[in-house]
Amino acid sequence: MQHLTSKKPAKCAICGSEESTPGTYPMVIGVGRICMNCAMQKVRCEVCGDEVKRLTSSRFQGRTLCLKDHMKEVEKYKQHIVKTYDEENEPLTTILEKVMKEQPEGYTLVTIRRGRNSTHVWEAEYEKTEIFQSRCS
Ligand SMILES: [Zn+2]
Ligand SMILES: [Zn+2]
Repeated sequence: MQHLTSKKPAKCAICGSEESTPGTYPMVIGVGRICMNCAMQKVRCEVCGDEVKRLTSSRFQGRTLCLKDHMKEVEKYKQHIVKTYDEENEPLTTILEKVMKEQPEGYTLVTIRRGRNSTHVWEAEYEKTEIFQSRCS
């Protein structure tokens, strides 16, 4: 967030009004700098339905969240690891071996797929083992 130190007055990301003194607008995660009017407005968390001030909310992956759910979503996000391998660097058999051998500790392989828009990149997706097991039982 290098913008925080910039001396240029920020524009409110919601209503577009410009701050009179640079650096006075608070920052909302996923939204940007907003004015105090907008900061005090109530928004509804899309996960638990609680009404919170916009100042204490966040936007994460397109959803408005209260801070509690924001923490949970970030945690969930971390529950997946994607590793990429390039078939141009090594043969597919080696890649497949590596995918199994280089499985991160505490994670289970969920899928191996072609990288998007690529004919030689492979993506191996791992999920936290405890999550994987809770989904499968
Ligand atoms: Zn505003
Ligand atoms: Zn919530």
